[in-house]
Order: sequence, then structure tokens, then C-alpha cells
Amino acid sequence: MICTKCGGTRFNSWNRCMDCRNQRAKVRAERVKKNGGSHTSTEWKSLLANSPNCAECVRPWAEIPPRPDPRYKHPWTKGHKIPIYHGGSDDISNIQVECYECNFRKNAGALGRARTGNTNPVKKPNSGNNMPTAQERISRRFSFILNNGTEVFPVQMKRRDTGTIAFRVSPGGTGGNTLEASEEVDEETMVRKVLEEGYAVRCRSLDGNTNGLYKHGHRSVREIRRNAT
Ligand SMILES: [Zn+2]
Ligand SMILES: [Zn+2]
Repeated sequence: MICTKCGGTRFNSWNRCMDCRNQRAKVRAERVKKNGGSHTSTEWKSLLANSPNCAECVRPWAEIPPRPDPRYKHPWTKGHKIPIYHGGSDDISNIQVECYECNFRKNAGALGRARTGNTNPVKKPNSGNNMPTAQERISRRFSFILNNGTEVFPVQMKRRDTGTIAFRVSPGGTGGNTLEASEEVDEETMVRKVLEEGYAVRCRSLDGNTNGLYKHGHRSVREIRRNAT
């Protein structure tokens, strides 16, 4: 077998050319260096410990299908809010925990644009990760104030299989953390179920850094703010 791109002959167990792979890694390492910033493994571990969900699709780790390559034991990956490809820094403030599916999708998008030359406008650093998206999808009917002061809002999620966007609520108690046990509802129903029936709802902070399933009485919830602004 010979790589049609570089003529290389070394392939990994997934039939990917090793020379092309090494070349991509080299280009990426140069970009990381040029973009600047760095983070320690302690910073990464702390971020991971505080990230119960993928920062992109907001699914909890238990809902992510196993990795196709069984050598990778965990569904999470290290992602950049502003991609390296768009000049994002490697500083911890630009790092988020993403599921491998979101991470691969983002990177595939960047490579696709690079190939066609159809590049999107480069995001300015510090223009704030994915806030506009989060704001479009959140409900301001109420919010939860967490013990650490963070305000989180119910957020609509897109289902990968159906493409429908809805709030995801789960009945109180344990075991409600899976797709099967949860219901997808509109805003009106979500508000009623959460405020009157004690359901938990998928929430997100405006900066996107806090994600999770929260409900009235959750140990990390300090108060509910109605008609949140
Ligand atoms: Zn190759
Ligand atoms: Zn994801």
C-alpha cells in the first residue's frame, strides 16, 4: 500500500498514512507555538474535574458513545474554544473539555475549509468563545444561582439523530441522567416541569464554562432566580 498523497508506505492499524499524520502534527505544533499561551497538566485536570459535560453538545460523558478506537478509554478530549487553526492560544482560558465527536467534527470542518480555500472570517482572540450560540439557545424564564455564584440558564440541545432542538428535562432523583430517561420539551413545558414538578434541566452558563443537569434542591444550587435577566 502506498499513500496517494505523499507516497509514504507506513500505515497505522486504521490504514492512515503515518508520514501524513506526522506532517499534520508538525504543522499543528508550529501553529500552537506561533499562537502562544500554555497550560499545565494540573490546570487541565482541574478543568476536567469541573466539566461533567461536553462544552459543545452539552451531553454528559455517560451519553457519549464509546470511541471507535478502543485504545482511547475516555469520551472527552481537550478542545480549543478558538481553534488553533483560527489563531487560538493554548492558554487554559482557551481550553475546554469536549467529547471526541464534537472535537473531530470541529477539526474536520477546519480541514475542509483549508482544502477548499473557503475560509470563514478569522475569529478575533478574546472575542469570546461560543457565547452568541449559547445565548440564542438559552431560556431566560429562570436561572439557577450555584453555590459558587455562577448563574446557569436552561439550554436547548440538538439531538444528533433527529436534529430537533429542545430543552431536555429529567425526572427528579437519580438515574435521570441518560437520554432514555429524559424528555425533550418546549420552553413552556420545561418551565412548568422544573419549577412545579421538580424536574432537572440541562443548563449552561453564559460563558459556556459551566454545564450540567440542575434542579431545585440540587446540592450545588443556591437559589432560583425567576425571570432572569
Ligand atoms: Zn501520506
Ligand atoms: Zn460534544
